[in-house]
Amino acid sequence: MEIKKSQELFERAKKVSPGGVHSPVRAFRGVGGVPRFIEKAEGAYLYDVDQNRYMDFCLSWGPLLFGHRDKETEEAVKEALSRGWSYGATEPYSLELCELITEKLPWIEKVRLVSSGTEAVMSAIRVARAATGRNKIIKFEGCYHGHSDSLLVKAGSGLAEAASPDSAGVTPGTAKDTIVAPLNDEKSLEEIFTNFGKEIACVIIEPLPANNGLLIQREEFLEKIKELCRQNNSLLIFDEVISGFRVAFGGMAEKTKIYPDLVTYGKLLGGGFPVALYGGKKELMDLVAPVGPVYQAGTLSANPVAVTAGLVTLKKILRENPYPILEEKTNKIAKFINNLAQEKNISLQVQHYASIFWITFDSKEIIRSQKDIPATQKEKFAKLFHALLERGVYLAPSGFEVSFVSTAHSDTIIEEFLHKFSEAIVVL
Ligand SMILES: *Cc1c(COP(=O)(O)O)cnc(C)c1O
Repeated sequence: MEIKKSQELFERAKKVSPGGVHSPVRAFRGVGGVPRFIEKAEGAYLYDVDQNRYMDFCLSWGPLLFGHRDKETEEAVKEALSRGWSYGATEPYSLELCELITEKLPWIEKVRLVSSGTEAVMSAIRVARAATGRNKIIKFEGCYHGHSDSLLVKAGSGLAEAASPDSAGVTPGTAKDTIVAPLNDEKSLEEIFTNFGKEIACVIIEPLPANNGLLIQREEFLEKIKELCRQNNSLLIFDEVISGFRVAFGGMAEKTKIYPDLVTYGKLLGGGFPVALYGGKKELMDLVAPVGPVYQAGTLSANPVAVTAGLVTLKKILRENPYPILEEKTNKIAKFINNLAQEKNISLQVQHYASIFWITFDSKEIIRSQKDIPATQKEKFAKLFHALLERGVYLAPSGFEVSFVSTAHSDTIIEEFLHKFSEAIVVL
């Protein structure tokens, strides 16, 4: 495969940006090699600057439920552009999006739009702290909630101890208000609440953790979190930035019927444009400025072109209900690969939920927490990744990231993918 132009651009990019990228995983550090510079995309395919074509299972990290350049979205965006692209004033377009969400998702009474998942989560936590008058928050090991300071932390040395910074530049003072709990572990969480119950403003979780593998949680565990929150007057935040509108219109809250006090959406919400939100009960959201004392603002928030893309995408979802078909496609992929691995006596499994799948190695059990991910994950995935990339398949470039399926992945495309997978798997 010719990648000369990507190589040249990467060398230039490294001179002007850290690692040549604007978000770390794009640099291929997790798999090695040269990141492909993408020139354009269409349907299920990415095209790089050297004119190579790849079947895309990264899909901009989830947002593109209907594949690249969905025609309906493209037309609506062009029309929105022709009216103007930033007003810095109230406008009707975001209103329609917010009304749709609050109408369809009854656990959300009011929302505030922002431009990234990071902002949404950071703001939701601010609201939780303001509402409870408490400082501490609980997050789970292996869940990602964006790069705001209080969430870039790792577990302390002992259970229920203050966390320590997981990034240079985060102060121990900030980290100490976050407690990191293991996923899939009722006992540890109970212990933390026993020790700190009266200080916990909120528990935040990805109800379908999908940023460190796909660590599907038992529903009883999610129930337990909700119960402990209720008993201790702490708020529950579901970070559905990745699962919202992806696994169901109402994300994991709809799937499990466990409803959080506050929720965050992003990724799919903008249909591939930067739109995110935090929302929840009226009393909580009315703590936000200009009504309440919690300050949060955004110069380019609720961008009219971006919210149009989101609105068209969500309406299309409601009209077409693509979830059963997407799940069927994903099941087919998982079943084929799992059978293939067994036939060839290769220790590889696909964990999947709705239209999200994750390839794991060397584990017989379902992996539900970070500590259960075998140490071979990175190295084995890197091998498989490159064998697939060579054959024109683009998975997310890290063994700890998940893959996504879109409606643009036709049966023919999926069959071709599985054929390529059968060829690639021999490198393991
Ligand atoms: C992607 C993601 C974020 C961060 O969103 P950005 O738009 O990248 O800031 C936060 N939480 C979850 C669960 C995510 O998947």
